[in-house]
Amino acid sequence: MERFTDYFKGFERVDAVRELFGAQTEEVLDNLKIEFGSRRGYMGVSDDDGHLFVSVPYLKEGDERDIYLDVIHELVHVKQFRNGIHLRDNRYRYTNRPTEIEAYTHAVKEARRLSMSDKEIYEYLWMDNMSEDDVKALADAVNVRY
Ligand SMILES: [Zn+2]
Repeated sequence: MERFTDYFKGFERVDAVRELFGAQTEEVLDNLKIEFGSRRGYMGVSDDDGHLFVSVPYLKEGDERDIYLDVIHELVHVKQFRNGIHLRDNRYRYTNRPTEIEAYTHAVKEARRLSMSDKEIYEYLWMDNMSEDDVKALADAVNVRY
């Protein structure tokens, strides 16, 4: 396991992150661990101990802005984990699970701050493993037009 702050610099200065953790921002990020994986995929937060896992191929090949927004998204899950919320509640589909909607809502707000259009945000939302119906459901849930 590696330290988040050795790889992702300056997130403690991002308002969207401070909004999540307030005065505890530095402490949370300093204590956050990352596990790098060689499998293709994206990022996630462990439901066991709250560490972040990141796909190395995604870091190498992914769009920098997408990766940034994913970190913002995952930090919402870090907060949820710290608050004792179960991250993978399988009573819900991924695209309407409350923990995901909260994380996507926060990332979309940051995307809008970066002046991304709804079309760009919609493309960002569409991950490789999603059907068109899934991404439309997700876009509806976070008020992104398509
Ligand atoms: Zn998520």
